[in-house]
Amino acid sequence: MLDDTIAAIATPLGEGAIGIVRVSGPEAVAIAEKLFVSRTGVDWRKQGSHRLFYGLVVDPATGQPVDEVLLGVMYAPRTFTREDVVEFNCHGGIVPLRRILELVLQHGARLAEPGEFTRRAFLNGRLDLAQAESILDIIRAKTEAGLAVAMSLLAGELSSRVRAFQDRLLGLVAQVEASIDFPEEGIEEATREDMVESVRAIMGDLEELLRQARYGKVYREGLRTVIVGRPNVGKSSLLNSLLREKRAIVTEIPGTTRDIIEEVVNIRGIPIRLADTAGLRKTDDIVERIGVERSRDLVKMADLVLVVLDASTGLTPEDRSILELVREQTGIILVNKSDIGDGEALARQVTPLFPDKPVKVISVKTGQGLAQVEEAIERMILGGQAVASQLPLVSHVRHKQALARCYEHLQEVLRALSAGENLDLVAIDLRAAWEALGEITGTTVAEDIVDRIFRDFCIGK
Ligand code: GDP
Repeated sequence: MLDDTIAAIATPLGEGAIGIVRVSGPEAVAIAEKLFVSRTGVDWRKQGSHRLFYGLVVDPATGQPVDEVLLGVMYAPRTFTREDVVEFNCHGGIVPLRRILELVLQHGARLAEPGEFTRRAFLNGRLDLAQAESILDIIRAKTEAGLAVAMSLLAGELSSRVRAFQDRLLGLVAQVEASIDFPEEGIEEATREDMVESVRAIMGDLEELLRQARYGKVYREGLRTVIVGRPNVGKSSLLNSLLREKRAIVTEIPGTTRDIIEEVVNIRGIPIRLADTAGLRKTDDIVERIGVERSRDLVKMADLVLVVLDASTGLTPEDRSILELVREQTGIILVNKSDIGDGEALARQVTPLFPDKPVKVISVKTGQGLAQVEEAIERMILGGQAVASQLPLVSHVRHKQALARCYEHLQEVLRALSAGENLDLVAIDLRAAWEALGEITGTTVAEDIVDRIFRDFCIGK
């Protein structure tokens, strides 16, 4: 339903200087006419678009002023939703916001669903689907690099790459169809060779994007990281030092109880999400606080495990069992307290036992080695690539999966071409490859996927 008018509070509910009630749709302006009374004598309906007017929201039923506001008026089609949009900029309190929303709903709007403004922007062609998804990424960005990745998605950098791929595929489809229609000897042979080459070239470019996708997600979602180690090795000291130097934001992990606070630290632009699971910052016993089971689960779910050892005590059986527990996981071994123990010797001892985990000798107390830890984290995430001079274009699993499906169809095209199969079959796979890409920008995407994407949004966005 795009012919109705939607409204929602667009700012967080709490105390703020300003709160905004946003209204979009054919009735938006009429609703403002009913509720807004100018205080400057300006006839705002006679003014241009994209202006702010000073006045009051007055309840038409009682004639009582509700709040002093700035009314923003933006006429279609140069708006976010491509519809008429009015925004009541009122005082940022729960009561004025709710009252104004109520009045707007009484006078012709309905409450917007989560993400519905952005969904309209998508349906009305203001944004493609990937760009629409970027908006939530911007809101949730945890580091500047994460924001930059989201902004490039909004700017359509991935979308234009996708469209370029689609154009190349359509070119191939045309070529195939021409040979189907004019199947003269010789032409088909040359066409097949040509096509194999073109398909290989496209696949090469897709591979590059897929490689980036491996770490692109990390910029968007952050890296779930846990610090483990036996008592007194320096876990809380490490966490505190990271938080002191690198704290980005504090969030609560959705879907878990409130006693788990997640801190995000910014390691070279990569959001490292550290769950303070074990109450690391407190001295409480981890087992008492959350139970062994739960911390084991959190360790298993982690993308990165930092295992802390103590150079002053050497490797104990307890250290060994902790290391065994995380043997299969991506991790870095930190040999701490190298200021009071022989860190290098301990590092030499554990390196051959856990050959796929980098071992770093550090001292949280003196700060020694911490820069190398950052470097090791970055190198692991970027999969040994040169440092992120170029931010990834692909940061959503959904986009990655569509690219991968496109790639698989092209593999099938190659196989069919070299097996000398009927070109009709080749054309079918080429089209399927093209469609897979369209899921990214939303031209060929199923309704329920669109629903799922916008369900994650907050109301008012
Ligand atoms: P946790 O139980 O693993 O969280 O360990 P803590 O962070 O509470 O540290 C235990 C003790 O080791 C504290 O007294 C810290 O000050 C001390 N400590 C932590 N890191 C270092 C270090 O690099 N060098 C030295 N000398 N002491 C450290």
